This record gives sequence, C-alpha cells and structure tokens, in this order.
Amino acid sequence: MADAGTLHDAFVDELRDAYDAEKQLLKALPKMAKAASSPELRSAFESHLEETRGQVKRLEQVFETIDEPVKGKHCDGIAGIIEEGKSVMEEDFDDATMDACLIAGGQRAEHYEMAAYGTLVAWAQAMGHNEAAMLLQETLDEEKAADEKLSELAEGGINQEAADTAHPADEEEAEEDRRPAKSRRGGAAVMAKKSRR
Ligand code: ZN
Ligand code: FE
Ligand code: FE
Repeated sequence: MADAGTLHDAFVDELRDAYDAEKQLLKALPKMAKAASSPELRSAFESHLEETRGQVKRLEQVFETIDEPVKGKHCDGIAGIIEEGKSVMEEDFDDATMDACLIAGGQRAEHYEMAAYGTLVAWAQAMGHNEAAMLLQETLDEEKAADEKLSELAEGGINQEAADTAHPADEEEAEEDRRPAKSRRGGAAVMAKKSRR
C-alpha cells in the first residue's frame, strides 16, 4: 500500500488546482470585460487579466522552488463560478444591472482565490517553503486588491445606477403622485415594497 499523503502532497495538489483556476480565468476575464458597459469596470477586468497572466507565471516559479513539475488539475470550484457568471451574461439586463452582476460574479471568483491563496501561504509557511510563501503572498495581495477595486466600483455608483431603475412601478407611482419624495417614502409605499420581495 502507498504511504499516506502528507501536507506537502496536499499543497502540491492545491497548487495544481490554483494553476488551473488561473488559466480558466484567463479565458473568462476577457468575456467579462467585453460584457461590461462601465469603462472603469472594463478596465478593471482588463488590468486583472494582465495580473492573472503574471499569477500563472508566478505559480510556475512556485512549482520550481519546491522542485515539482508545473502541472494543472481541473478546478471544479472556479469552473462552477465561471459557469454561473456565463448564465448571468446571457440574461437580458440593462447595462447598469449587468455591470452590477458582473461585479458580483467577479467578486465570487476573487473570494474563492483569496481562500485558496490564503491556505497556500499558510501551508507554505508552516512547512518552511519560504520562497513559495512569499510568491503566493504577492498573488494573494493582488486578489485582495482586485476584490476591493470591484467593491469600490459597485459602491461608487454602479449599484445605485442599477437600483435607480430597479422598481419601474414606483416610477409610475411617482409620476402620478406629486407629493414630495419624503412623504411618499412613508408607511404604505415602504410596506408595499417590502411585501413584494
Ligand atoms: Zn513541502
Ligand atoms: Fe488569480
Ligand atoms: Fe483574481
């Protein structure tokens, strides 16, 4: 019988998973950039695509530092996230809503990567693979920055722009209802909105 696997084996496995995930993202990011309407969002995806190319190279270096062959292993997790993103892109949403959804999908991917690289850094440190840990930390920092950038774009206008047309029925009400906005926000309107969800 083969010896039981070690943390080093699990580490190499996770590296292969991450390597494959980055390669899947190299294909997905251009599609997300293309689907984005906001120029800032498009350029955020494009610049993360550039970064992702560097992350693939960096993982190759990591394999070298521990004398392991550069190899990928299909990452089901990121494949699922990309698949969900694709279905959203097929929806007929207005531009701002689509942008908000692209950000949501992008952030799912970034958080998945942050979890993966967080573990890889911790395991590399624990096993004394210090150079690998350093390289992996660089990528982890890039993933965190990419996630923050997406939050900034969402909270800096895209979500609100999408939300402004989220309730078309309210707009008709507002047309008929000439009372100032503040009193309209009172009981009945708020209740109606809540019960619709
Ligand atoms: Zn090791
Ligand atoms: Fe990445
Ligand atoms: Fe990423």
